[in-house]
Amino acid sequence: MSLVIVGSLAFDTIETPETRKEKIIGGSCAYSALAASYFTDPKIVAVVGSDFPSDVIDLFQSRGVDTRGLTIEKGKTFHWEGRYGHDPNQRTTIKTELNVFQDFKPELLPDYRRADIVFLGNIDPDIQEDIRLQLVCPKLVAMDTINLWINIKRDALLKVLKDVDMFFANDEEVKMLAGENNLITAGRKLLELGPSHMIIKKGEHGALLLREDFIFGTLAFPCENVVDPTGAGDSFGGGFLGYLDKVQSFEKKHLRRAAVYGSVMASFTIEKFGIEGLKALTLEQIEQRYSEFNKLVSF
Ligand code: AMP
Repeated sequence: MSLVIVGSLAFDTIETPETRKEKIIGGSCAYSALAASYFTDPKIVAVVGSDFPSDVIDLFQSRGVDTRGLTIEKGKTFHWEGRYGHDPNQRTTIKTELNVFQDFKPELLPDYRRADIVFLGNIDPDIQEDIRLQLVCPKLVAMDTINLWINIKRDALLKVLKDVDMFFANDEEVKMLAGENNLITAGRKLLELGPSHMIIKKGEHGALLLREDFIFGTLAFPCENVVDPTGAGDSFGGGFLGYLDKVQSFEKKHLRRAAVYGSVMASFTIEKFGIEGLKALTLEQIEQRYSEFNKLVSF
């Protein structure tokens, strides 16, 4: 099959209680594509400014990522700044500078339009919609978002949601969008708005996969050393969809395994700053964590 990932490539400034890192590489597309690259060869759709380092593009290519859908524009790359408190599930966005994202209107290449699985990662819902309309008979379209878009572009977001199969969102976003405090009720309410699958990310408490006919929960891998939670959600999504693309199946057993692989990829991300944890993993490391997970939940 084939997987297209749309999202941001960014310079992130990240502050944790211990450290501050200025302008490190991030963005939803960077995390998702690297996580997916351990299962398949994802194609990316993104935009960067002329200030974006070429060695990062080389890194994507060396991991088998197809970068023909990457546009390099004159100007500055998207910049996001976030701060974490002592609870890694709580973060505050300090700054979002869209820069070259402001006027991004991607035209998908013919083979990208015919992709089997498409991940509309966290970006402006108007761009997500624009891309959704260019797709030709996709088997599965998934989308992600962030509270900024729920706050400032709710209607546009609901429009894309109507036309996707799978919605990845964190617990806070699900409750906010549904206007419900109970997570399951909120998830079920969003299922009525379009997607047939809800993937509710709960940070260090794992994730829930919700469908009309079944529900599955996975833990987050128990990490003792959480350095930077940024990108955990995007890595989860990339690992999840990368695995489905590899096995070419959307059966329940594969959806469950996809959720576990998603958690495994997220666990590697949060152990280091930015994309460092996803740069050079081996398949053995991934499989080892997957089987540790198995032991953890068998009883
Ligand atoms: P996550 O921690 O998985 O929610 O994703 C964090 C990543 O999302 C960071 O690397 C940011 O660069 C990126 N990001 C944050 N806000 C936005 C936004 N408004 N649009 C696109 N990407 C964003």
